[in-house]
Amino acid sequence: MLARSVAVARLATTRVGSRGFASSSTALKQKLVILGSGWGGYEVLRKVNRSVYDVTVVSPNTYFAFTPLLAGASVGTVDFNSTLEPVRRYPDVTYYQAWADKIDFKSRKITVMPATGSATRKRLNPQINDDSADELKPAVSFPGFRPFDLQYDKLVIAVGCYSATYGTPGVSAHAYFLKDIRDAAKIRTRILECFELAAQPTVTDQERRNLLNFVIVGGGPTGIEFAGELHDFLITDLERAYPTLTPLCRITIYDVAPGILGAFDKKLQDYAVSKYTREGIAIKTSHHVTEVKEGVINIKEEGEVPFGLCVWNTGLAPNPLIESISELEKDEKTHSLKINDSFHPVTTEGEVLKEVYCIGDASALEPKLPATAQVASQEAAWVAKALTRAGKGQSPPSEFNFVNRGTMAYIGSWNAIVDRTQASGGPSGELTGRTAWLLWRSAYLYQAMSLRNMVSLLYHWFATWLGGRRLSRF
Ligand code: FAD
Repeated sequence: MLARSVAVARLATTRVGSRGFASSSTALKQKLVILGSGWGGYEVLRKVNRSVYDVTVVSPNTYFAFTPLLAGASVGTVDFNSTLEPVRRYPDVTYYQAWADKIDFKSRKITVMPATGSATRKRLNPQINDDSADELKPAVSFPGFRPFDLQYDKLVIAVGCYSATYGTPGVSAHAYFLKDIRDAAKIRTRILECFELAAQPTVTDQERRNLLNFVIVGGGPTGIEFAGELHDFLITDLERAYPTLTPLCRITIYDVAPGILGAFDKKLQDYAVSKYTREGIAIKTSHHVTEVKEGVINIKEEGEVPFGLCVWNTGLAPNPLIESISELEKDEKTHSLKINDSFHPVTTEGEVLKEVYCIGDASALEPKLPATAQVASQEAAWVAKALTRAGKGQSPPSEFNFVNRGTMAYIGSWNAIVDRTQASGGPSGELTGRTAWLLWRSAYLYQAMSLRNMVSLLYHWFATWLGGRRLSRF
């Protein structure tokens, strides 16, 4: 018992020493709190000089997720871990798996709610069940589920956005979002479940067709990439495993807009449409979804359409934390926090909060920039530099300038589209086909955040090409 107490005491001393909670050097350091571990938050964590600040990260995700590869992960082209980087990779940083629930900008205090354990699992994806608000409340009686406060000297808000449903009934309960790795895992399980259900002897032909109807709502890059990845999966591994079922499969993309891939040049939009049409993927634009029920989607122009899987990707809705902030200026359209050219938000009384930065999808810069990883990571790099310089008592970096490196999307069958018509520097124009696909893959391989993931991605792409995707389901 005594030995255990000594060991615990020693551990406590070591923790205090190694974390530096009580060391004099840390006492002098300013407290930097980063909210979010996505493209914005994780990049600030990576790039800020951590010897200058006592850094704390608060995020319900213990990892950074490489979103451009989520569509591939949802069908098994790459494994889940190759798209993730753990926040705990940085031992000199304090990390809390938790939600920032409230920010008091006057007293520089954040109220934080733990996001660990089964009691809060639903809250990790609050959109899953919008009718069960009571279940989302953490069980306060469990140790570790008590809210706590964090003080900051500098704060980076990088909490991103949620998926928009535009109030369409039933979406949260019956459709799948593709925003995080947990969503990708659920989609993969559901695809395989649809096939196993359709293979049961008691299922009628009509039920079989319904189960194998895959519906995608939203013709933006995420929906289109998912359609391409799903089609790849169907015509290769699933066709080999379920040869009698794949002829019954259908993939349909619905969008309320008159076209798809709005952010891309018209030529590339047409290229994607004609490729998908050739492959039998139906693209139904100017179609309005009025409701999603269990296994049935209601389309204004078509009536009830049964489905096995509905993936919903129709844009962004504000993060509840951002919604809860009333004392700062917001963009009228997106409800994101308005920021000045140094990424500082401004109070409704016109005061610039120089100790606070907001970046990525949760922020609204003027002139407007798209809500992309490219923008979030460049903003993060600038803010990390600004923080480092401020921490060293140096002047701020030169003005932030977004460098548009172009947009790209995978459209299946080793084909991609690359739009560099608006890109700054390098060759401009559009690219399609295998060359574009090579560029797409190399760009994301190059951007992998660690050597481990770079090797893992290469390995999984090769393994998929050689031996196919895994068909096991848990
Ligand atoms: P996010 O990356 O969404 O990170 C937000 C973080 O905040 C998360 O860690 C979240 O858990 C955390 N968080 C949320 N609420 C709280 C809270 N209350 N307290 C603390 N933490 C909180 N962009 C491209 O440029 N190219 C692409 O190819 C591309 N593909 C995409 C594919 C998919 C499937 C998706 C979903 C997006 C894609 N994007 C792409 C867009 C890009 O991922 C986003 O623009 C980018 O993630 C925005 O970064 P962010 O840091 O603002 O938010």
